[in-house]
Amino acid sequence: MNDWLRNRLVCPRDAGKLENRRDGLVCREKHFYPVIEDIPVMLVEEALETHHHTSETFRQVADQKRGKKIKTEVTRKNEVDEYVQTEIPHTSGTLYFSLRHKLTRYPIPELRLPPGNGKTFLDIGCNWGRWSIAAARKGYRPVGIDPSLDACLAARRVSIQLSLQAEFVVADARFLPFAADSFDAAFSCLVLQCFSKPNVHLTLDEIRRAIKKDGTIFLQMPNKYGARALYQQWRRGFTEGEKFEVRYWTPQELRQTFEEKFGATVMTSDCFFGLGIQASDLDLLPFKYKLVVLASEFCRKLSQVFKPLILVSDSLYLEAENQNKS
Ligand SMILES: [Zn+2]
Repeated sequence: MNDWLRNRLVCPRDAGKLENRRDGLVCREKHFYPVIEDIPVMLVEEALETHHHTSETFRQVADQKRGKKIKTEVTRKNEVDEYVQTEIPHTSGTLYFSLRHKLTRYPIPELRLPPGNGKTFLDIGCNWGRWSIAAARKGYRPVGIDPSLDACLAARRVSIQLSLQAEFVVADARFLPFAADSFDAAFSCLVLQCFSKPNVHLTLDEIRRAIKKDGTIFLQMPNKYGARALYQQWRRGFTEGEKFEVRYWTPQELRQTFEEKFGATVMTSDCFFGLGIQASDLDLLPFKYKLVVLASEFCRKLSQVFKPLILVSDSLYLEAENQNKS
């Protein structure tokens, strides 16, 4: 773990300073956080989990303590890490199911932010790190967090394989283990949409604390009035959703929530006709999905000119400068 990251880590339970111990970090209240293969595991065990990966991580930490070996070997050049090959539909979306174990390259999306010039970047729910990689390539200094130790280990392997500088921390978005004002920018995609609304509120409060004043907040959220969203809601009888299912928000609800937390907010379209559609992956997808991507891109570009179209876009980006810090 580099010094920059180590100096910003605090106890996620009480924000207290941490001291190094042989096998991890400990705060004054004796909360202990193991460090495994250089990745700090900063989860809050007593909190109700947002994803079953959290309890899997605790099981792995226990296994590791008993001496079970962890995969650290970096995949060979021009090959795709086995974890990414398996997890791809869960991290990139349903369009990617047929690409399981068939990826010929890493699907790295385009980050719709200006060049980073060394700015620090918090990637919330990073999984194997595709957005952290996109950010590093754009000149940011990314730190990805995810409750899954396996995902963080994969992200670390892939960033080493691609010779990019990125750090990964096992953490819960609602209890960010970073000192106040640690980052210049916060980003998240296809993650907060699967949190209950109270958990989104907790996460946004933590983002406000961890990001510097005037820092960039750039978060993807789903739109209740998207064409695909309406179909999905109909399929599940317009219920709120449970566990890691998508929770749908109206554009008004999103704007009001973000303006309360961060100040003036700009809403743009991420994609139409689904969630997680990336033009940068056009070459990887089967023909029928290429058409979906092209149609989505057409509508997205149209929505930049004809703004009301944003209101029926399935996936939205909300962008704000962190103005409301207390
Ligand atoms: Zn503590």
